[in-house]
Amino acid sequence: MSTLITNIAELMTQDAEHRVLRDAAVVIEGERISWLGPAAGAPAADERVDAGGRALLPGWVDSHTHLIFAGDRTAEFEARMAGESYSAGGIAVTTGATRSASDFDLTRLAMGRVAEAVSQGTTYLETKTGYGLDLENEARSARIASTVADEVTYLGAHLVPAGMDAEEYTELVCGPMLTAVRPYVRWADVFCEQGAFNEDQSRRVLLACKAAGLGLRVHGNQLGEGPGVRLAVEVGAASVDHVNYLSAADVDALAASWSGWDAAGGSGTPGSGQRGTVATCLPACDLSTRQPLAPGRELLDAGVQLALASNCNPGTSYTSSMAFCVTTAVLQMRLSVHEAVRAATYGGALALGRESGNDADGARAVGSIAVGHRADLHLLNAPSATHLAYRPGIPLTHAVWRAGVAQPVR
Ligand SMILES: [Zn+2]
Repeated sequence: MSTLITNIAELMTQDAEHRVLRDAAVVIEGERISWLGPAAGAPAADERVDAGGRALLPGWVDSHTHLIFAGDRTAEFEARMAGESYSAGGIAVTTGATRSASDFDLTRLAMGRVAEAVSQGTTYLETKTGYGLDLENEARSARIASTVADEVTYLGAHLVPAGMDAEEYTELVCGPMLTAVRPYVRWADVFCEQGAFNEDQSRRVLLACKAAGLGLRVHGNQLGEGPGVRLAVEVGAASVDHVNYLSAADVDALAASWSGWDAAGGSGTPGSGQRGTVATCLPACDLSTRQPLAPGRELLDAGVQLALASNCNPGTSYTSSMAFCVTTAVLQMRLSVHEAVRAATYGGALALGRESGNDADGARAVGSIAVGHRADLHLLNAPSATHLAYRPGIPLTHAVWRAGVAQPVR
């Protein structure tokens, strides 16, 4: 079964050459992209979709979410909007509600959140554990996450649960809990921050998870300058996320991590020597916690590879809207539309080690439109991607294909 999408006014490929095509067409064959180019030269296909002069982008790649939870934190949000500051401790509220929820409810809630994201153009999505915080509930969260998300991250080191000593809990995270979640996860993450895990504890968690064969990610430098970014680069993490408070040395370390990297020849292997550490900015979280926005412009100018993600979670960023993140990145972080869309598509794929791979590989690339890549496409109800920032707040998703399959759009 092949589908020709034609009459595309603007086709933003986000491929290695950063091509933007006008009057273009794309052909989907099964789950893959089989052709793209000028509409006038498009081959015949089984089915024809007239894009009506709209813009086509890669589907969003949301590389940072926390979708396995029950309950909400409206009261905490209201208190924050009334002037209270954010601290890491609110996670404990969600942990209580998550532990009490049934498997059925946790799965149903997470599936609803994924459907919400997909209906807004997200076609590849990572999610984390981290609201179980004991062996049984972290393993359960990982198992449920593996049934709803494309990539699963073990975040046992999200917060030290009430009644436990930090050192004792770190040992659990590095030992039996890791063994229990291992079959369900590809990544490990740690919240390296004042009030969560210190540098030594974070390093122990990351190295234990690396030894177990997991790729690494870090929550770092959200609430103040600290060791998170430095540690992420040191251990070869694929991404360090938040990055609000950076020293000049942090920016230099991130930039240096990419100095030997060749975008066209990337191996797609997380944490391999040639790849650097992506800086993942979470602007919706920054707004919801009234933190200064991460310095995305400065990071790009320094040569750092950037991702934008929703950080969808009940405490600090209860949105799955990648369009909102892109809009904010353009209007308030001074990225161009092309840069912001790239960070929300290709950048997310890079942060998940999924930016390369084609017919010959086991896994197809996501986050860019090229022959052999997964057919993850987002058709906007607008003639150009510029409208994402030019018409902030307007729902612009017109159609979504995920691995070649048309998705329901609300
Ligand atoms: Zn997070």
